[in-house]
Amino acid sequence: MRLYNTLTKKIEEFVPYDKNMVTMYTCGPTVYHYAHIGNLRTYIFEDILEKSLNYLGYNVKRCMNITDVGHLTSDSDSGEDKMLKGAKREHKTVLEIADFYKNEFMKDIDKLNIKRPEIISKATDNINEYIKIITKLLKDSYAYISGGNVYFDTSKLSDYYNLTNHKVNDMIVGVREGVEEDLNKRNQADFVLWFTKSKFDDQELKWDSPWGLGYPGWHIECSAIAIKNLGEHLDIHCGGVDNIFPHHTNEIAQSEAYLNHKWCNYWIHGEHLNDNTGKMSKSNGEFLTLSLLEQKGYDPLDYRFMCLNSSYRKVLVFSYDALNQAKNSYNKLKNKIKSINVDLDGSIDKDKVDMYKYKFKQSLENDLNTSSSLTILYDVLKDNMNNITKIELVKDFDKVLSLDLLKDEIVKIDKNLEQYINNMIKLRSKAKQDKNYEEADRIRKELEDKGIIIKDTKEGTIFELK
Ligand code: AMP
Ligand code: ZN
Repeated sequence: MRLYNTLTKKIEEFVPYDKNMVTMYTCGPTVYHYAHIGNLRTYIFEDILEKSLNYLGYNVKRCMNITDVGHLTSDSDSGEDKMLKGAKREHKTVLEIADFYKNEFMKDIDKLNIKRPEIISKATDNINEYIKIITKLLKDSYAYISGGNVYFDTSKLSDYYNLTNHKVNDMIVGVREGVEEDLNKRNQADFVLWFTKSKFDDQELKWDSPWGLGYPGWHIECSAIAIKNLGEHLDIHCGGVDNIFPHHTNEIAQSEAYLNHKWCNYWIHGEHLNDNTGKMSKSNGEFLTLSLLEQKGYDPLDYRFMCLNSSYRKVLVFSYDALNQAKNSYNKLKNKIKSINVDLDGSIDKDKVDMYKYKFKQSLENDLNTSSSLTILYDVLKDNMNNITKIELVKDFDKVLSLDLLKDEIVKIDKNLEQYINNMIKLRSKAKQDKNYEEADRIRKELEDKGIIIKDTKEGTIFELK
């Protein structure tokens, strides 16, 4: 599989540390508000990546954090705490806010057929992990205490800016935005590992630490949660492009300083979904959530389909026109599949299956070219192969696309299939009774060709699907 790696700025062949288990970390949501559909675009791309790896034969262990503490309104450690802002807005506690929006996020990803990561870990459940890492960073002089906070010292690294095209001077950006400069820092790029002093002393959640009562910085959460759950060598780390700097840059700095070796080989980033203002926002104008799209009559999968039609590495501009187009094409596709007459005559054409699966694999291997995967699906529907082969391929591709392409068909197929198998089993028993073993074997083979294995047991003949 070839993937664009932000670290090397090249499309590279993906080679995991351990071919038996790919480890994948994806930055999770900051649960102070609903996710906007831009956020959800990133989770759709990560879902496609995980499912493509599965499709290509890899086992994937994936972990995602839930940021319920430490993420400030500016990623460079300034501004108000996002969680606190949410709590004030809704006159609730931070924990109530976190709980509510985490659940809403889970509902959104379920509706989009995004598989929940195997490990989901809340930032507030890992305080001891942060303390362990920060203690070592201080001991090894990668960190320092200043004005009550613990900072990471970026001047200790020669390649701090490896992941990004940022230059030291770009750090002035924070000041340009009218954000006060933090005078405790030794270097402009230094970032907070642990806060005990903040301008916002009404912070609700604080924990005891060797440096006083306080709370972790945002970046340390992801390093600690990833290392704890996925080990010292990470294959893939994902997020949206806004995470490249400073978040992922800082994750690399602190993780590698802590581990004393290279941490993650592949940094894969999804481009943004923008609205017509050029940026998706949770505060300005119409806040584009999945529920809003549903209220307007869209199926969440219309949006998934829209995302799959474009490259995850290209900016996608949201408009209702574009979503309407996606909805129409998606409905047409589903109707085309619905109109396939689910007869079970004939056998699966193995050559066709192999050929199209190979093409489908190639599209995924080509840096997740999902629009080309969809083209291959359309080619299957146009092909003159028999229906059972078409259904077999649609079912197979939908393991990655997750567009519920056979949802309406599945009951029909299951019912037909069961009747057909039972009938074949009866015919085979009769053939055996008549000592017509040739016919009995032919029936077994016909079923096998359709992916149905039959077994003779004391209780009678049973079947299972391959
Ligand atoms: P947050 O909840 O702000 O921590 O963001 C959750 C995820 O959404 C992160 O991976 C971000 O990089 C990503 N993200 C933020 N804005 C956008 C956007 N407009 N389009 C796509 N992804 C985004
Ligand atoms: Zn993160």
